[in-house]
Amino acid sequence: EEARLAAATPGSGALHERALRTMTGGVPSSYQSRDPWPIYLTHGKGARVWDVDGNEYSDFHNGFGSMVQGHAHPAIIRAVTERVGLGTHFAMPTEDSVVVSEELARRFGLPQWRYVNSGSEATMDAIRIARGVTGRDTIVKIFGSYHGHHDYVMVSIGAPYSDIGPADNMNSLGYGAGIPQAVIDLTVPVPFNDAPAMEARIERLIAEGRKPACVIMEAAMMNLGVILPEPGYLEAVREITRRHGIVLIFDEVKTGLCVAAGGATERFGVTPDMVTLAKALGGGLPSGAIGATDEIMEVVASDKVKQVGTYNGNPLSMAAARASLAEVLTPEAYVHLDRLNDRLIAGCDEILGRYGIAGYTVGISSKGCVHFTDAPIRDYTSFMEHQNAELPELAWLYNANRGVLMAPGREEEWTLSVQHTDADVDRYLESLDAMAKDLTN
Ligand code: PMP
Repeated sequence: EEARLAAATPGSGALHERALRTMTGGVPSSYQSRDPWPIYLTHGKGARVWDVDGNEYSDFHNGFGSMVQGHAHPAIIRAVTERVGLGTHFAMPTEDSVVVSEELARRFGLPQWRYVNSGSEATMDAIRIARGVTGRDTIVKIFGSYHGHHDYVMVSIGAPYSDIGPADNMNSLGYGAGIPQAVIDLTVPVPFNDAPAMEARIERLIAEGRKPACVIMEAAMMNLGVILPEPGYLEAVREITRRHGIVLIFDEVKTGLCVAAGGATERFGVTPDMVTLAKALGGGLPSGAIGATDEIMEVVASDKVKQVGTYNGNPLSMAAARASLAEVLTPEAYVHLDRLNDRLIAGCDEILGRYGIAGYTVGISSKGCVHFTDAPIRDYTSFMEHQNAELPELAWLYNANRGVLMAPGREEEWTLSVQHTDADVDRYLESLDAMAKDLTN
């Protein structure tokens, strides 16, 4: 399958050769490549993208889940085109930024909002605000969850099974070199879907005089495929954090605006103290936002905590976000996403069952994945222990060779856009069917 992809993408191969001379590793940013080489895209329209060799793909990568609007959506083209002729950057507020914060407040049930330009900036600022409000340094995160590339959260993400540590005493492990040990030690991981382990760890931290400022987590984990919260888990986390006076941050960079109008917060009915957004907010333009209660954002309003950035609330991003919220990510859009996703999930499960391949499919609204596994995946440990490491990689190649683009890496989930149709779902199912047939022949 890899040789077949190489043969179909010679133009990408040639650009990769050239890129290697000046662009480190041949990519603008890590994780944009996969053997044999990164696929160079020229354009996208709706649910489809095209590469430099003219191959067409149904896009389930969708810019790591940023393009739930689909590519070149007319409403966003219009908003951005109008804005571009009126000046693209002032570092001053525009009316669009007010309209967007009003809409986000309505959707997420949190009254106060600030802007940034990426998911990493959103989680970095949210954690600083939580630290500023509480006057505490330690933070708690979920083992295996990704919250961006700044030092506070580049801890206990990928790790070999042997290094993880027991559920109630997991290890703080730097993700890659260059992260100071002193910062790593401030970030304490706990397992997903295990409220007793979280509570035990928090109580021990308190006893040690290291009461956490916040718990930062995704309400439904992305970046390990998709792992849904088990019944009662989020409610228990809400109760534990409230009882101990710890700020609960839902990182909705991937789920926000993708799994419901008001993200996972709405979908699961548990309201955190803070929410971080990015990706889908800007419809393809760099953007991010932090939402919180009045009480928390008072430290920002009073300038006790500094929340700053030249491009925060950039007019182009705000115009795209406004159009996106008003015209694209409407209630009907989520009905469409739910219907397509349910069909895709059921179709994948039917194929696994028909060919007797171990695994199951899980998803929520625009997001989903097939877990190739012999046991349920409910956290990082079970992911490491049970997920077949090779089949997701093989599925990526089968997909690419059959006109289905997925994000590289076994941890990545699919993202549907509002412009996806049944024909795109059919393509995905045909590709999985082809792999399943070859595997069982
Ligand atoms: N939080 C989550 C849950 C994410 O999935 C990501 C990116 N995949 C980030 C934060 C960081 O976002 P960005 O890449 O825009 O900095």
